[in-house]
Amino acid sequence: MKFKTKKINFHKFPDEFGRFGKFGGRFVAETLMPLLLEVEKEYEKAKKSKTFKNQLNYYFKNYIGRPSPLYFAERLSKKLNNSKIYFKRDELNHTGAHKINNCIGQILLAKRMGKKRIVAETGAGQHGLATATVCALFDLKCIVYMGATDIERQAPNVFKMKLLGADIKPVKSGTATLKDAMNEALRDWVSNVSDTFYVIGTVAGPHPYPMMVRDFQSIIGKETKQQIIKAENRLPDVLLACIGGGSNALGLFYPFLNETKVKIIGVEAAGKGINTKEHAASLSKGKPGFLHGNYTYLLQDNDGQILDAHSISAGLDYPGIGPEHSWLKETGRVKYFSSKDSEALDAFKLCCNLEGIIPALEPSHALAFLLKYKKNLTKNTIVVMNMCGRGDKDIFAISKNLGVDL
Ligand SMILES: *Cc1c(COP(=O)(O)O)cnc(C)c1O
Repeated sequence: MKFKTKKINFHKFPDEFGRFGKFGGRFVAETLMPLLLEVEKEYEKAKKSKTFKNQLNYYFKNYIGRPSPLYFAERLSKKLNNSKIYFKRDELNHTGAHKINNCIGQILLAKRMGKKRIVAETGAGQHGLATATVCALFDLKCIVYMGATDIERQAPNVFKMKLLGADIKPVKSGTATLKDAMNEALRDWVSNVSDTFYVIGTVAGPHPYPMMVRDFQSIIGKETKQQIIKAENRLPDVLLACIGGGSNALGLFYPFLNETKVKIIGVEAAGKGINTKEHAASLSKGKPGFLHGNYTYLLQDNDGQILDAHSISAGLDYPGIGPEHSWLKETGRVKYFSSKDSEALDAFKLCCNLEGIIPALEPSHALAFLLKYKKNLTKNTIVVMNMCGRGDKDIFAISKNLGVDL
């Protein structure tokens, strides 16, 4: 497998317009523009503030439980040609996934800006759960927009969010899933400008969100770099992560983008197969277009109507992709592949049995790809895979699939 890389300083992007090459930007209604400019300005200030950095580090360490371990998966490695497979264990974070890294960051920013009310969108409920958690911690009002279909599918997370004091607003428009919830959250923000902050859950949306979310999630890659050098005295050969909107992946990838010897692979959800209509592979099968205020690869029909995404994993079920990934694909810096529902389930079972780790279905897609990638692995190949979530939330979907009645 050939990885072509041009000489680009990947840490110089986005540009001042929030563009990654031709992707990204800020294509929003006039009413939204001043809000985004304010967030951008305040974020630039916060980035330089020592107090903000100290707060962030404090909650990363004492509330989330960072740094997350870098774990050598010995039995899996043996099975894969005696290579060296490491899991970056962000599934051990408080609330069970990487989402909270970003929520802590954005909500600390909201507090700095004096905002008292937080709105968020959620699909599977992981971002809603992390947002509700941090809002409880900081005594902020929390409103979560969630597609009516997803509310039905994700009962445990809905219940948890309610326990934490969040107000869940069902969204019935469109297909009543994540993209519709995001539209409603944006609408709420515009109508409640003065006291409200919108916390986006992935590296999507209008500038500065893709950059801001990436920066907060980059803690994953920063820690990984130190940990792998300590363990192996060199950088990894391959980085691997699953892609929904792309935040856990960029979090791991970003600090390595200029290390051109490191091969980087993102894995999308192929659902029932990328040649069927039921998948979520925006980069492999989509075309560039506009969604949620940015220009990026999307699943769309010939008239530009956004298509429904499908995946066994609700967290990968987004018809778009963060604009930076669209650009990383076009520059050739990152290669994107996909795994099907059935392959993810097999990888899920293997991980439970070989490593005693019950992974979320999302990283099971990345693991499934690694199994297919076996022929490229040799005795000395070092791979770091982001274990971005744990499987507790998925036991209902999985038991159904296995025909087991809980
Ligand atoms: C939300 C979620 C994803 C997908 O979001 P990204 O922004 O692509 O990371 C992946 N894995 C888990 C565990 C999630 O909760």
